[in-house]
Amino acid sequence: MNINPKVINKEISLIRQISIKSREYKDVINLTVGEPDLPIPCEIVEETTLYMKNNRMGYPMLGGSLEIREEIVNFYNTKYGSSYKIDEVIVTAGATEAISTTLRAILNEGDEVLIPLPFYPGYLPNIDLNGGVSVFIDTTTDELQLTVETLKKHLTPKTKALILNYPNNPSGMILSKKNLDEIMNFLRDKDIYIISDEIYSEIVFDDDFISVGKYDFLKEKIILINGFSKSHSMTGWRLGYILTSKKLKDQLIKVHQYTITAPSIVSEYGGYIALSKCSDMSSYTKEYKKRCEYVYNRLNSMGIVTLRPKGSFYIFGSLGNFNLTSSLDFALDLLENKHVAVVPGIAFGVEGYFRISCTKPVEILKTALDKIEDYMEKYRSN
Ligand code: PLP
Repeated sequence: MNINPKVINKEISLIRQISIKSREYKDVINLTVGEPDLPIPCEIVEETTLYMKNNRMGYPMLGGSLEIREEIVNFYNTKYGSSYKIDEVIVTAGATEAISTTLRAILNEGDEVLIPLPFYPGYLPNIDLNGGVSVFIDTTTDELQLTVETLKKHLTPKTKALILNYPNNPSGMILSKKNLDEIMNFLRDKDIYIISDEIYSEIVFDDDFISVGKYDFLKEKIILINGFSKSHSMTGWRLGYILTSKKLKDQLIKVHQYTITAPSIVSEYGGYIALSKCSDMSSYTKEYKKRCEYVYNRLNSMGIVTLRPKGSFYIFGSLGNFNLTSSLDFALDLLENKHVAVVPGIAFGVEGYFRISCTKPVEILKTALDKIEDYMEKYRSN
């Protein structure tokens, strides 16, 4: 009996592989996984515990309870100027399920999906397993900005969707208003879905983050994805959502229903509390900003060129000034010699970079950076 060869050929992500390997070292500083270290805020845990005690845990409502969907649309519409209604939401088991449901629902064999580089690796298996083809758009020469000119060069009659992920994992970049406006206007008359993964929207430092939800004239093509893992440190609750037009939602929900029925009713209640009582997460953003600034300054002062992240809790450093050609070899060697775990750029589709996740306090980041600085010395190219 044969299993789908596309499944057999899939490896677990490089991020997890390095993270697992790092457990071999007792004193390791693990800066790989995007797992927030700050606690779940305000009354989410307490209120959810009470809810569990006082309610019968029956099957959740398909698409999500009215309460959480109402909070989601109020939150998005108020903060990001969108115009979603409660029947244009699907509450999902994390952004991961939202991505999977979306790609399963829209892709036909041979459809091309455009992905700006560097990218979050979770998209690829979902494209591949559903018969799609990933088409990468290199943005490293444009300061990680996707422009309408580069986008145009990658369009073919088979282009089915464009995935946007801003603030970006792994770089923390967001698109400038000008670039986003131009891209959105260009896509106005194209039959291309815009999948916008906005999971880091609540962790934005100085500039304003513009959600694609604001571009109402594209609503029929936009599938907006977000969740509670990063904003509210609720990774283990597995809670996210899709916002889209009613017409698209009615299609996507069929895939969602027969995959998971719904996320846990417990998590859903936690998400409801998160948005109704703890929607202002600015103190967490401030802390991530402080850490990112620290890492940014340290890396640049040791010759590891990075762009200043505008959001998220990641920094993407370039190995360009060093005699290091393989980012994977670099990450493995750094781990073995200095017991510091980082993710090689190749995991995000680009060679010659690495990602640091600033999900540790500054004191720990300082120790890690001292070790990285020490390690880099012998590889300096001039
Ligand atoms: N999208 C991006 C860009 C991510 O970085 C992650 C997790 O790291 C996810 C989606 C998955 O999020 P979730 O925990 O909600 O499944």
